[in-house]
Amino acid sequence: MMPDNAHDIKTAYQKICAEISAPPEATLEAKLEAKLEAKPITLLAVSKQVAAAQVRVLLECGHRHFGENRVQEAVQKWTPLKADYPAIELHLIGALQSNKVKEAAALFDVIETLDRPRLAAALARLRDSGVALPRLFVQVNTGNEAQKAGVALNEAGAFIEQCRHDYGLTIEGLMCLPPYDTPPAPHFMQLATLAQAHNIAHLSMGMSGDYGIAIACGADIIRIGTALFGSR
Ligand SMILES: *Cc1c(COP(=O)(O)O)cnc(C)c1O
Repeated sequence: MMPDNAHDIKTAYQKICAEISAPPEATLEAKLEAKLEAKPITLLAVSKQVAAAQVRVLLECGHRHFGENRVQEAVQKWTPLKADYPAIELHLIGALQSNKVKEAAALFDVIETLDRPRLAAALARLRDSGVALPRLFVQVNTGNEAQKAGVALNEAGAFIEQCRHDYGLTIEGLMCLPPYDTPPAPHFMQLATLAQAHNIAHLSMGMSGDYGIAIACGADIIRIGTALFGSR
């Protein structure tokens, strides 16, 4: 049975899809002027704390990209959903403990939260044991907030190169979660600059409240929970 808010979820989904597939003129022109290719934007539907019945509304719409922040919750929710729907792409966007890498690698297609050497070492060991790793993004703590995960901005470049050269990991993207109480644009710009300096293709940035700004700063993956499913 479809949940009560199925209609709201579908409407919100269609609205956001329309927005991100047709960026405002000014943005497009600015991009052309800068001779940058307009990157396609991937909407990552953040389904943490969202019941499977509501997730199924988006799956029925044909949506296949989802983000979860807890390994255990994701395993329980997504094992049956993955059996019902082919070609799901699941991203881990929450902190990963080194002792959970095997479980995470078995479920997730992308881990967006690689942020410390210990975790890089655990992933490299798993790969060396013959397990295919998910695609990896480095999470950067652009606000240098003590309580937040992510490698500190001033250590991020060295960490990316350490992942590549010491652990042989391929880093395909960068992710950030700016502080709540400051304008996000400078954080998004710093992440974009870091990606360019290290030749990294993907930028996962922007949430319900700021995805428009993130796209203007070069995001190609936006992570949206509340604006799709309502408040948690
Ligand atoms: C919860 C969460 C989101 C989604 O946030 P909303 O404001 O609900 O869109 C995005 N990214 C991360 C890392 C999250 O934990």
